[in-house]
Amino acid sequence: MNVEQAPGGTRILSAPESVPDSGLTRFPTVACSAPCPVCGDCRDDCAECVACAYDACPHCAVPDVTPRTAAMLLAAGVTLSGDLETLLFSSGRPVFVHHLLRAFGMMTSALEHGWRPVPRSLAEQLCLHLMIRYATDLSCEVGEILCANLPRSDYDYYFDRLYDTLLPDDRHETFAERVVRVCDGQRVFDFDGLTHSVSSAGSDTLFRSFR
Ligand SMILES: [Zn+2]
Ligand SMILES: [Zn+2]
Ligand SMILES: [Zn+2]
Repeated sequence: MNVEQAPGGTRILSAPESVPDSGLTRFPTVACSAPCPVCGDCRDDCAECVACAYDACPHCAVPDVTPRTAAMLLAAGVTLSGDLETLLFSSGRPVFVHHLLRAFGMMTSALEHGWRPVPRSLAEQLCLHLMIRYATDLSCEVGEILCANLPRSDYDYYFDRLYDTLLPDDRHETFAERVVRVCDGQRVFDFDGLTHSVSSAGSDTLFRSFR
């Protein structure tokens, strides 16, 4: 892990050299489930299919999380967790940091298994948001290197869609704004700032389970 203390936050310089790819290939690479029970001879990824043109097929759908997209999210989660871990012993609120690390862990382990990450608390929602944010940069910088062994898809790296498809709402935004800041023209993820600014009531809200 290569991290650098920049004034006002930590700038993460590099991702892990590889990501565990055990479950990543379970994510779909194509939209078409051909042969499709609804569309019949739907093929070429639903090209020229009337039902799919009107989004009328429940079996065919453009994938949002492909193996390579999942790998980038995973690498982002692992990198951000590593950054957060450095705070565990220096922070005045180790319990808060520990819970946040657990939330990252829930999201990254889902991806490792080839499951769509489903946030079950505002903290997990925040972590997933930060992973999407970081993965967007990461895919430009190291996407080809990290994902060399994973299948390609026409739908790789459409991270902007994920804010809508993976996050249930935007209640985490106020917390995200405290973490993601621009410092000297560089994006930094300032977990220390978050740790200092969240009240104990805010902390309860963050970690309370949705169900
Ligand atoms: Zn289709
Ligand atoms: Zn179709
Ligand atoms: Zn279909």
